[in-house]
Amino acid sequence: MKTLRLLLGDQLNIKHPWFKSVDDDIVYAIFEMRQETDYVTHHIQKVIGFFAAMREFASTLESAGHQFIYYKITDKNNTQKLPENLQKIIREKDISCFEYQLPDEYRLDRQLQKFAITLSIECNVVDTSHFYTKREDLQTFYKGKKQFVMENFYRDMRKKHDILMAYGNPEGGKWNYDKSNRKKWKNEPEIPTYKYFKNEVSAVVSDIEKSGIKTMGNWNLKTFNYPINRKQALEQLKYFCEQLLIHFGDYQDALHTDEVYLFHSRLSFAMNIKLISARNVVDTILNYYRKHEDSIDISQVEGFIRQVIGWREYMRGMYWALMPDFKEQNYLNNRNSLADFFWTGNTKMACLKHSISNSLDNAYAHHIQRLMITGNYALLTQTHPDAVDAWYLGIYADAIEWVQLPNTHGMSQFADGGNIATKPYVSSGSYIQKMSNYCDGCHYNYKKKTEADACPFNSLYWNFLDDKREQLESNFRMKMMYSILNKMDADKLSALKKRANHIIENQDEY
Ligand code: FAD
Repeated sequence: MKTLRLLLGDQLNIKHPWFKSVDDDIVYAIFEMRQETDYVTHHIQKVIGFFAAMREFASTLESAGHQFIYYKITDKNNTQKLPENLQKIIREKDISCFEYQLPDEYRLDRQLQKFAITLSIECNVVDTSHFYTKREDLQTFYKGKKQFVMENFYRDMRKKHDILMAYGNPEGGKWNYDKSNRKKWKNEPEIPTYKYFKNEVSAVVSDIEKSGIKTMGNWNLKTFNYPINRKQALEQLKYFCEQLLIHFGDYQDALHTDEVYLFHSRLSFAMNIKLISARNVVDTILNYYRKHEDSIDISQVEGFIRQVIGWREYMRGMYWALMPDFKEQNYLNNRNSLADFFWTGNTKMACLKHSISNSLDNAYAHHIQRLMITGNYALLTQTHPDAVDAWYLGIYADAIEWVQLPNTHGMSQFADGGNIATKPYVSSGSYIQKMSNYCDGCHYNYKKKTEADACPFNSLYWNFLDDKREQLESNFRMKMMYSILNKMDADKLSALKKRANHIIENQDEY
């Protein structure tokens, strides 16, 4: 019996049970396809990264002796569509069994389910063996609950997997050191030189150019910087443990004009294409911490572990619990277009200029740039969530819908009305000033509200709260802000609203 096994571009997990032994009756299929490059406009570095990692994976399969079929984007026999490519191979190779790993994206899951129904041969679906949780675990965990608070799930994960636990209690006495994760970075402690992978990708780039794929963003480096194979992913993880973990928690929320990555791990791309599993990352970090407990504080480690076993697994579970309706929701009825400067970084607002330029140059931004700068601004300007989703899904190398959508549509844009975030993540200029040095050289003044040089976030903030009263005023976590708004002098509010509306209508002047 000849078996065809599909590997999607984000299923590059060489530790998967599929690869335990070599079998000449099994042929693996990997396709670079226009259906994947064209469903949204991706950052050029993201497309390069995916194709480069897929080609690396194919050579790993080859060295191990596995049979495989690889379609490059430029190959003549590539139909550029998943079902058609599979159908062709099944016919040509006389395949009698088709197998695939559960896709993480709803779109591909449905496509493969539909395809499987058309087959007259045996068809099997297996898990990806990448996550701690199964797709449906979150749905079960929150069954009967009105709120889906991440912290409850996170604590359960800690207990279930015995991570940072001491005799049934959280190690160090606290579940969460979030409050100590909010230091402003003021040029020290020194940030070690980043580890760059100088992956030579000219053949990939030439194929992308020949194909005429539309991309966004910049790419001047000639190499691809993030890990594209397991060896590099492990090296990046080792580097993070040895160099960055010691300050990770403290500066997790910090923002700085001169720094793109600060103490962040830059592991998301490697993790999301499954070069390395969540468990592998967590175990390595815990092992390292155990050997260095005298120099590394638990708050740094807990801060990181929370992101991986908490937020990452939570987002995936919520995605599967809420899709497909989730994607269509627009609870705040936001309708505006995304400012043109999201594609150029050409704005006088220093915080947005830096965050957008980082994203355009590196296909990367850390989570506070994504949440409290670009996301905050898009929400305050009442941008349609679909436009915001498309930008986030395209621009980041690590953006795959299962993780991008709950973070953007839910957490950042509150478009689901509060299933993921308990309140909208919005702020005025003072938060940005507190967490960064962006305001120091900015054209605008974070202390001013309505003057020509007043920070736009200030008027936008109060205008947003006033415009969204109906949806937000009864939210318990917004109570304090509405009580300030309700006491505000009518003329003052009217001046704030006038300026906010001018900003919204003329975003590219600001
Ligand atoms: P670190 O700060 O070093 O964190 C370590 C790891 O924790 C990350 O690699 C990631 O795997 C995980 N992690 C941290 N926060 C989250 C989170 N909120 N959700 C899921 N995993 C998390 N992450 C993506 O992987 N893809 C996305 O498309 C994506 N879109 C986002 C959109 C918005 C609006 C926001 C606010 C966050 C988004 N995130 C996304 C989460 C987070 O910003 C990135 O995971 C992180 O910036 C990646 O950089 P890093 O590897 O250096 O992360």
